[in-house]
Amino acid sequence: MFTAAEAERLIFTLVSPITSRETVDVADDPIGCLGRILATAPLSQLDFPHWDNSAMDGYAVRTADVQTVPVSLQVIEEIPAGKLPQKALGPGQAARILTGAMLPEGADAVVMQEETERNLQSGPKDRLEDEPENQPADQQVVILRSPLPQNFVRQRGSFAKVGDALLTTGRALGPADIALLAAAQQTSVQVYRRPRVAILSTGDELVPPHQPLQPGQIVDSNQYALTALVAQTGAIPVPMGIVPDDRLAVKRAIAGALAQSDMVISSGGVSVGDYDYVDEVLAELGATLHIRSVAVKPGKPLTVATVESERGSRRLYFGLPGNPASAMVGFWRFVAPAIAQLSGHQGPWSPDFVWATATADLQADGRRETYLWGQITASATGYEFARAAGSHSSGNLINLANTNGLGIVPQGNQQIITGQPIRVLTIRSAR
Ligand code: AMP
Ligand code: MG
Repeated sequence: MFTAAEAERLIFTLVSPITSRETVDVADDPIGCLGRILATAPLSQLDFPHWDNSAMDGYAVRTADVQTVPVSLQVIEEIPAGKLPQKALGPGQAARILTGAMLPEGADAVVMQEETERNLQSGPKDRLEDEPENQPADQQVVILRSPLPQNFVRQRGSFAKVGDALLTTGRALGPADIALLAAAQQTSVQVYRRPRVAILSTGDELVPPHQPLQPGQIVDSNQYALTALVAQTGAIPVPMGIVPDDRLAVKRAIAGALAQSDMVISSGGVSVGDYDYVDEVLAELGATLHIRSVAVKPGKPLTVATVESERGSRRLYFGLPGNPASAMVGFWRFVAPAIAQLSGHQGPWSPDFVWATATADLQADGRRETYLWGQITASATGYEFARAAGSHSSGNLINLANTNGLGIVPQGNQQIITGQPIRVLTIRSAR
């Protein structure tokens, strides 16, 4: 039996990341680009900023003119954002400038409006906006504070230069990345193809949710849990339904799932019961079984196998236990990281762990690494972890529902007492 850390390490050696690519366009389909994984590092074709520009509403000046303040300068033009300066500043001259506007030639600093005084009869704003191109020569501004050279100037190329890599390969595109690609006019980007992940539920007792339950039957909730979980990783879920506990049916279903996916996840049928056929069938299909159990609670029976296709590609198979909590914990701890790696994500692929303070005493049997589901909340001093009230039976889906963290009691520990730190695997839950 492997420890969780050993199992994770081994799984990472078994994944062959997807290398085939497709092109997406952030301008045509920004939503579709969200979460897609970059297959190339886009290089900037532009300097950022594209030209020296003002970080403030104020006055563009020559610092040489304003060493001693207060000093009055002649305002020779107004430069709003988007307008090309028409004149170069000469000695004793300033230009009214607005945020983002191009710095005029000769200027080497911007003095913010609040550190100036405008000696106009009418308001400076009205007058300047009325006649932007044709300033009366007697318009003056008094500079009250000496700026240093480049004050409030965003210098051309100070954020990025032509040829700089804007993003790294293997990055999952988020909103800021999409903004950057749009700003850089690199809207068409190469991303990895999304992996297809087939999902199977095994068990004679299982029925779909809309079917009336007969005594002894339960709803196949894992199919839906796993579909949603796979979708959250950015992979394409391929739900393949319920397979009865019949050796031939299981074999056909697994072969079919392998044929049309990059990874297969099944739930149920991996324990040591009489109807647990998954491992045997995998062996018959020529799979290599790498893991059959992991010292975690819940979710000890975990099958990890690889299947080589004739085309030389290798597919990973996860056989999760059937209990809903076991299946989900197994997914969060082992499957999600493997999908991240398969998808071409740069890593780290491991789940995100944080340290939190236990808000109550937490018990475990000490024999396996124990995952307790519950809530993490941010307090003023860090995270707190509160175990979900109610039964932590692996068959209990009810109190698992609001989980956003799995508190981990290490193997060998029987309790974590109130106020002690506990490592928590964070779960992306919907808000
Ligand atoms: P198994 O791992 O097949 O022995 O199943 C363990 C327990 O999980 C049994 O009580 C099953 O009824 C339950 N179970 C198995 N598959 C599912 C499923 N797809 N959805 C919900 N519960 C399931
Ligand atoms: Mg079963």
